[in-house]
Amino acid sequence: MVNNLEQEVKRRRTFAIISHPDAGKTTITEAMLLYSGAIREAGTVKAKGKKSNKFAKSDWMEIEKQRGISVTSSVMQVDYDGHQVNIVDTPGHEDFSEDTYRTLMAVDAAVMVVDSGKGIEPQTKRLFEVVSHRGIPIFTFINKLDRDGREPLELVAELEEVLGIDAYPMNWPMGMGRNLIGLYDLYNERVELRGNDEEEDDIFIPLDEDGEAQGEHSFKESSIYSQALEDAQLLHEAGNEFDLDKIANGKLTPVFFGSALTGFGVQTFLDAFVELAPAPEAIELESGDEVDPVEDDFTGFVFKIQANMNPAHRDRIAFIRIASGQFEPSMNVTLNRTQKKIRMAHTTQFMADTREEVSTAVAGDIIGLYDTGNLQIGDTLYSGKKAVAFPPLPQFTPEMFMKVSPRNVMKQKSFHKGIEQLVQEGAIQLYKTYHTEEYIIGAVGQLQFEVFQYRLLNEYNAEVDMTPMGSKIARWIKEEDLDPSMSSSRNLLVRDRFGAPVFLFENQFAERWFQDKYPDIELEQLL
Ligand code: GDP
Repeated sequence: MVNNLEQEVKRRRTFAIISHPDAGKTTITEAMLLYSGAIREAGTVKAKGKKSNKFAKSDWMEIEKQRGISVTSSVMQVDYDGHQVNIVDTPGHEDFSEDTYRTLMAVDAAVMVVDSGKGIEPQTKRLFEVVSHRGIPIFTFINKLDRDGREPLELVAELEEVLGIDAYPMNWPMGMGRNLIGLYDLYNERVELRGNDEEEDDIFIPLDEDGEAQGEHSFKESSIYSQALEDAQLLHEAGNEFDLDKIANGKLTPVFFGSALTGFGVQTFLDAFVELAPAPEAIELESGDEVDPVEDDFTGFVFKIQANMNPAHRDRIAFIRIASGQFEPSMNVTLNRTQKKIRMAHTTQFMADTREEVSTAVAGDIIGLYDTGNLQIGDTLYSGKKAVAFPPLPQFTPEMFMKVSPRNVMKQKSFHKGIEQLVQEGAIQLYKTYHTEEYIIGAVGQLQFEVFQYRLLNEYNAEVDMTPMGSKIARWIKEEDLDPSMSSSRNLLVRDRFGAPVFLFENQFAERWFQDKYPDIELEQLL
């Protein structure tokens, strides 16, 4: 039991890091753990193989072991400066899946890490779009300042142009690469001089009224400093204004510069982040009412299911974002979809270096509940008497497709049962070709296909044949607009699992061609 729920909730900061692979997500997470004191030295979060040394070993599904994917680090809780920071992982690369997007539905803020040499990359853009849809604050960290990258002004302009969000530089690099001498810190009105070596702390010098570093310093003679001053002046005159409301609504992103690898600028970033990022706020219910995070009754929703961690038991972990109240061990809750009672007996939370039974958790926290198949993605759990339902989680437009059929006709039944359950659970999306009713599955990441195949075999004893169809652009059309003769090999007509008609376009060219030919037909996509 926590003594003061309100106080506990207020110090929560639950966020995800979004970035393109290799921008430095892992490194900055490691730096955060380091500064929070959760780990003693850097280098432990890194390297997939090494991860298991620091994070509790687990028997996640075989496929994950083979691929070296670590799920143990799905959520990390660290204390930073009096705040409990919950970092929720968004897998990238080949472990990318719809779960990655759904995870973004369970956080209160996002940190976008950008490689200063590369700018905005495709995966960052896609994740940004999903986060942006929610209207939550997005903090930008432009990383790898210890290397020569692109011009800061150019990077900020690109951010605004490519993502369509206003940017407010909180600090500005003084040089980069070998010439990196520090940060001109507009937010804290100071200059942060980079310590000379690993042992030496950064030095902070306040600004005077003219925006100059106070006192006499040799760096003030350098062209690097005067360039930063000039840029800062330009930002002041022509840039966006600092606006807390806009930040809170995700309309303005505070931009920080630094180097995760050397730790430079990370603490400055973290200090501002815990100050400006929101504590858990009220969440809207399907009814339109709101749930206040400090209400006594426990409410929460399932946003991710990690299946089959132990094939012998077929258990799964349902990840639950607590929306209000607090979790108590073995508490009884109602599952809204079935109105059945569930005892939350076997739970887990994820500390930086251990996985342990949950003793207390409050609104904003994420807990893992071992489940034997009762829970589905989007389910609401509540402890009070009054029924509570959170809105369904959004569905995401799949980008890659496979034709599937049972290998053994004798196993048709288990094949169908398996598909039905995996689709319901949200592991994969199902479509059928319009005329022949062949099964097509859709996903946002290759991993989903592999998990699908593995689970059908291991949980339903059904072997499947899968024929890749490659990537397609899925666009929904209205039933009344449907004319099957519009379908061709370049825009295959299918129905989704609710029966709605969908075209799978071969590429953008095919989509444009279709739009030119049928200008009155509206093509829609999911999130
Ligand atoms: P992730 O794929 O986004 O998790 O990226 P990682 O954190 O694994 O980093 C990718 C590569 O970039 C690794 O080789 C890191 O050592 C390197 N890296 C990360 N941050 C920095 C940085 O600030 N400076 C430099 N020079 N390299 C970095």
